[in-house]
Amino acid sequence: MRIIFGMYLDGVPWSNQLASIGEVRTGPWGLLSILETRLGLSGLPVHPVHRIDEYMRRMEHIDCDTAWFHNSFADDPWSTARQMLMWRDELVEAGWQGDMNTVSSLRLQALTELENLDLPLSPGRPERLRKVIKQLEKGNKVGIASINLVEPWKLLPPVWGYLMGLLQEQGVRIGQLPQPTGSKHTSNLAAVQNILLGNAGHGLVPLKDDSLVLLEADNEWQAAEHLALWLAAAPDFNEQVTIICGSDTSILDQALKRRGLPCLGRAEISRWRQVQQILPLMLANAWKPVDIRLLVEMLSLTKTPFPWFVCHSLLRAIAEEPGVGGRAWEMALDEIETSYRERLAKHGDTQSAEKARQYVQQLQGILVEERFDPGEGIPEGVLRDRCQKVINWLGKGLDKDPMLIEIVSQAREMQKIALGKGKIPRVTLERMLDTVIGAGSQNLDIYEESASWHVVDHPGQVIEPCREIIWWGFQDPMTSSSTYWSQPERSELQAAGVFIEEARCFRHREAKAWQQAFLNAKERFIAIYIARMDGEAVSHHPYWDTICQAVTQTGKEYTGEEARKMVVRKCKEFDNQENWAFAGRNHTLKKVDGAKPVELIPAYRVPEKVIKPKAKLSYSQISALIACPMKWALQYYAGLSLPQSQAIPSGNQMLGTLCHRIVEELYAVQKQWQPEAAAKGAGNLYDQLLPSMASELLLEGRMVEKHRYREEIIRAIYTLVEAINRYGLTVEATEAPLEGEINGISLTGYADLLLRDHGGQAFVLDMKWSISAKYMRQEVEDGSALQLATYAWMLKNAEAAPDVHAGYFMLAQGQFISDSPLLGSNAVIPARSLEETWDMAVATLDEVWNDLEQGSLKAHGIEELWTHMQSGESFDKIRAQRQEQYLEKGMLYLNPLCEYCDFGRLCGWSGGSK
Ligand code: SF4
Repeated sequence: MRIIFGMYLDGVPWSNQLASIGEVRTGPWGLLSILETRLGLSGLPVHPVHRIDEYMRRMEHIDCDTAWFHNSFADDPWSTARQMLMWRDELVEAGWQGDMNTVSSLRLQALTELENLDLPLSPGRPERLRKVIKQLEKGNKVGIASINLVEPWKLLPPVWGYLMGLLQEQGVRIGQLPQPTGSKHTSNLAAVQNILLGNAGHGLVPLKDDSLVLLEADNEWQAAEHLALWLAAAPDFNEQVTIICGSDTSILDQALKRRGLPCLGRAEISRWRQVQQILPLMLANAWKPVDIRLLVEMLSLTKTPFPWFVCHSLLRAIAEEPGVGGRAWEMALDEIETSYRERLAKHGDTQSAEKARQYVQQLQGILVEERFDPGEGIPEGVLRDRCQKVINWLGKGLDKDPMLIEIVSQAREMQKIALGKGKIPRVTLERMLDTVIGAGSQNLDIYEESASWHVVDHPGQVIEPCREIIWWGFQDPMTSSSTYWSQPERSELQAAGVFIEEARCFRHREAKAWQQAFLNAKERFIAIYIARMDGEAVSHHPYWDTICQAVTQTGKEYTGEEARKMVVRKCKEFDNQENWAFAGRNHTLKKVDGAKPVELIPAYRVPEKVIKPKAKLSYSQISALIACPMKWALQYYAGLSLPQSQAIPSGNQMLGTLCHRIVEELYAVQKQWQPEAAAKGAGNLYDQLLPSMASELLLEGRMVEKHRYREEIIRAIYTLVEAINRYGLTVEATEAPLEGEINGISLTGYADLLLRDHGGQAFVLDMKWSISAKYMRQEVEDGSALQLATYAWMLKNAEAAPDVHAGYFMLAQGQFISDSPLLGSNAVIPARSLEETWDMAVATLDEVWNDLEQGSLKAHGIEELWTHMQSGESFDKIRAQRQEQYLEKGMLYLNPLCEYCDFGRLCGWSGGSK
């Protein structure tokens, strides 16, 4: 066997020849495996997670207040064990056996104490390497004829240098692969290579030389298009091209595919694919208090652990009340039970009722009741059970989605390491999971395709001369720094025969690998630096500076800037050229038609008499119809809405709902309250309802907010009750149903509070929680308070009373806003009565329906945008003019509020049409 050994050669093809026998190219892992096989030492590898677990048990065994690692271990045992094990492995690989006396370092003393414990620790790579060395020291033969080193022997890590010595002693020929000599042409590439080799050579070749190009791209798409075009321009010449993949090639692969070329398939591994979230979310939802966002994330997964109808019902409940265990949640569970029972009964199950009841109990158990204090930890049995549930759910789809196999095996690993742990605190569990999941997994849909060019993952893998080398992703490789060992530690270790590589040796080897790739380019070297990756600015590769420095030295007759310009190009310089020419290849490009922004359509043609209100109208529908018929059509006619996971109330919306509920509960008990008693009751209800209606406030770090909102809500209830009493009103009903009919369509709504004065006059009060009362007051003043007008009209219909009153109560500000004379001097003076406002609204609705009948669907926001683009006038002015025009026709104008509309991208208001 003849081996070519390089520190970066793990994972490369064994040979580049068309046919070869007995020739292997490999790195340290590959060589270790070959030697183990030859020496009969092969064994089953152990997942690192088990070794960390075993080492953690060793640390637990000697942990005490004075232990060197005690404080870190108390905070995060898993991470501390992982770090200590990493140091220990580094030492063992270098020959440490834990038997030396140390006085200089508490770290070494702790490691020594741990090493000498009689507790199991599965062998890892260091043990495997030391075993091989032991066998070689005994003179056991491995039957290798020769090893050619890519890096000079002295640049190998000490342990590998020693191992090579042992092989040489048993007759293995250790040679050195010829070092690259650079290009023999007269070119900029050759000139710079000569400088780097320390040779005298010619200077820069000024014109039309593109043998050395440092190409700058603004982003991955620009770089990908450019490289794909270059490769497609001369496919017959790609055989002698070597591509170094310095970064993810997903975007490049898409560009290659568009040009009919094979993919490189170097998508970065990721742990953030949706399917990989199942296990972490299943475990993250095992802690107290309920984190509603995490629960929503789990229920919203495309491949969720629960059936779709379960997720749908629960998400809808959470969108109504962002918590668990409340009224909406219970109703959802009832709905699920009914649905499940009906499904079972449909299949003839005679025990459908009992099974459905148990099913809902299990759900409630997993999602709500089976939760544990993060500090105390989750019992190992429950953890294993949760993992088993994931295994059972995913097990059904293993044949369809190979990625599930990995998730199942991660769940199994978690089960194994949970054994014997009793209770596992949250920090430890999350670290364990991190280690089990590791960096993540490959996207199995992307793989390298057969191509004429050669692809490598590291410059150190370019070990032969190549005609053209492309370095894709010439960015800072961001290699992690090596362990810091202090000088006294190193001295003691060296005295014991343990030699740990210095950081500078590692850096030197790395820099040599970069240079090796560069010097192996015979005719062309193109390095593609992408200035922004994933939208983030990145620095170029350190070797960029080395090349630029050499360019400056080579082109002595030019200024540094001139010399630099001869090799540095920008992708955008090649844009918009009919005759595209780059680095020896040409392409004739056809101009594509300029992309036109989406045309703004203020009124869509739709089939006549088709779009019309369905059976029922509500205030929200009327408001949408008047403000923007397009919005109404999308939301209420077509039934489009945001996914439930994005509609979870938070902030003011959540507080408003909670406050409404507190008022409802208070007045359900008694109809008359004194402010102090109501405030006390509100405080109690706040505490009771928080888990079901605002559970996010129970999370760690939200204590201050939770108390602040409690105070604010108590104050709001106090002022509300005080105002009701002050104006001589009594509460007749909360959430009082109201109804009416408009053009033969029923109209329904619910008044937050239905009040009565001493004379029996009705007062509809709508409560709002908002940071400012300004806009609601403005509405009432302007006579555009459609909600009040609608409720007042419905109430008047029901009571056949001449006078009804309506108003807003701004909870956060404690303000009553109404034009009712019952408020005396505090009443707002409106521009028109609520009755007049309602009449104007009806006139507007008539026109909207008339338009729809005739097949015209208007997007009012687009009409305003269109006017703005044509005239340049401000939106405020345009809206004021429209309001005037509506007024002249006796109609009500409402601002479409496009900024808050979910359909802006559908109608063209946002997303590039402007
Ligand atoms: S963004 Fe504006 S114009 Fe478009 S549908 Fe929504 S409200 Fe109407």
